[in-house]
Amino acid sequence: MTDTSTGAAQAATASLAPNTPRRFYRGGERVLDFRGVEATSDFDGYRPEDWIGSTARLFAEGGGGVTTLEGGVELPDAFAADAEGWFGTAHVSRFGGDPNLLTKLLDSGERLPVHSHPSREFAMSHLDCDHGKTEAWIVLVAEPGATVWVGFHDELAPEALAELVDAQDDRLLAALNPIPVSAGDAVLVPAGQPHAIGQGVLILELQEPTDFSVMLEHERFALELDHAFLGLDRSLALQSVDHGPLTPDRITTLRRRWADVEGSGSALPTEADAYFRAQVVRPVTGDVTVDAAYAAVVVVDGSGTLSTRHGTRRIAAGDVLLVPHCAGDVTVSGEVTLIRCMPPTP
Ligand SMILES: [Zn+2]
Repeated sequence: MTDTSTGAAQAATASLAPNTPRRFYRGGERVLDFRGVEATSDFDGYRPEDWIGSTARLFAEGGGGVTTLEGGVELPDAFAADAEGWFGTAHVSRFGGDPNLLTKLLDSGERLPVHSHPSREFAMSHLDCDHGKTEAWIVLVAEPGATVWVGFHDELAPEALAELVDAQDDRLLAALNPIPVSAGDAVLVPAGQPHAIGQGVLILELQEPTDFSVMLEHERFALELDHAFLGLDRSLALQSVDHGPLTPDRITTLRRRWADVEGSGSALPTEADAYFRAQVVRPVTGDVTVDAAYAAVVVVDGSGTLSTRHGTRRIAAGDVLLVPHCAGDVTVSGEVTLIRCMPPTP
């Protein structure tokens, strides 16, 4: 048994502080609001993402992003010291001592560039990595009229895509499917699908744990071409992009209303399960108990308590905590909604 050992057992009652590396696009106020944290005097408006339980680093832009626990231990070191306590035996034997997941809060202070992420197969062949990046957006806050874009509505020939990428004008965004979103929506974005997030949303984002992005739109954000194309030849990088079409029927299968879950249930379509799980826990008719699992827990509404074999703690909207597998089953009480962001089932 590892539940009396160091890091994993203590983490059950430890909240994570915001971890907001500087990015190339604006945002961050909604993250601070949600977390209930004052902006520090050096807040520069370019801290749009809070990397939660992160063992991943930025591909460029300084290489930050790894989570540091209270006391100064970097998360990869904590995981290495007690992998079975954090993740359980089944996870460790299947995936090793890593969460296989990157979770973020993301506040779009401006529209993000049109970009896509490679699939696992592409990453294995060309980027020397077992992970691609399928991602999912769980919308927590949305300004009226907020929109995201996913997939080309018509099929684009390789030359047509290359031409759009060369032109760096509005036609690239216009080629995508616009999807209006409000708080309570969720959208799964399969690897390869080009996408953009419009201004004015706070999302909880689950991703495969890499920072590989093909920045189809790069000029407007002054991104280096090497950064934009992952250091690959442009035509090879563009082969990782799904040329479409992404049909309305297919888009329907990628969407879900996480806010409709009562008791406990998935925030995402079943298709997401191969990459990550996002379980909504919302007691409506009494306490809810869910199985032991490593989880980055984000409390999205209300307040209540969270109990494990390590004790009971009060939780409220904006809290973020890492709950290790060794904490056992988790019982949630009160008028509270939380989302457990978890690796795939081993
Ligand atoms: Zn993305």
